[in-house]
Amino acid sequence: MNIRRFIIPSRCIRDGYASLDGDLFKHIVRVLRMNTGDILTLVDERGDEHLGVIDQIAREWIAIKIIHSESIGGAERLTPQLTICQAIPKGEKIDLILQKGTELGVHEFWIFGGLRSVVRVGEQQLTSKLERWNRISAEASRQCGRLTIPVVSWFPTFIEATEAAQHELRLLLSEKEHNLTLRDILAEKSSLPVSALVAIGPEGGFEPQEVNHFVLHGFTAVSLGKRILRTETAAIAIAAILQYTWQEI
Ligand code: SAH
Repeated sequence: MNIRRFIIPSRCIRDGYASLDGDLFKHIVRVLRMNTGDILTLVDERGDEHLGVIDQIAREWIAIKIIHSESIGGAERLTPQLTICQAIPKGEKIDLILQKGTELGVHEFWIFGGLRSVVRVGEQQLTSKLERWNRISAEASRQCGRLTIPVVSWFPTFIEATEAAQHELRLLLSEKEHNLTLRDILAEKSSLPVSALVAIGPEGGFEPQEVNHFVLHGFTAVSLGKRILRTETAAIAIAAILQYTWQEI
């Protein structure tokens, strides 16, 4: 079983319990449908990792009893955990993104139905698609000698994806962003983020309303240069660039 990991602000923890509301509450209870007794991991901005069990679910908040806490902060802090948030592309491109992203150390993949995504994933196909996608990341992990397997999750639209996004660094790749380059953004940061989420559009790119929504949820739009990359190139390139920046390479 995979233990889900959530990024939380450390102030949510008090007297051995984490109390979560808002988007995190919705994501855990409504989207993931987790229940009392379920185990999860919480990581805060200081790099402390807490293993917990859901103790109580109320109307607008949940209480998680902390079983064990461990510091992954300071010098031994782990490499930032990168999530690729990819609008579903056509055909087998998603396979390529999952496979190459896994080789490049992507921590998690979120696939969502972009407004301009040509492919539609219906409820009936979802289980088999998710199984297939998770099998690809598992096979790629084995092939490249990784110890962990990236989990692949599905979000029907950009709304659910943005609501679930609690990552410290949130980027949206846009070929239309002419002012901010990735170099600018990364240069601004003096320390490594605990986690990062990068949103990438489908073949036709993002709709302006999607970009606005992501930006409202704390995403920064950045360019990967003057040339327009194919969506799968953008995903693979950003994974390699961030790993290099974060000194994994
Ligand atoms: N709408 C464009 C192409 C979209 S490319 C058109 O049809 O002309 C698909 C996705 O790849 C984009 O949504 C973006 O997330 C990413 N992408 C491609 N080139 C990029 C670049 N130069 N900088 C940042 N992101 C890019």
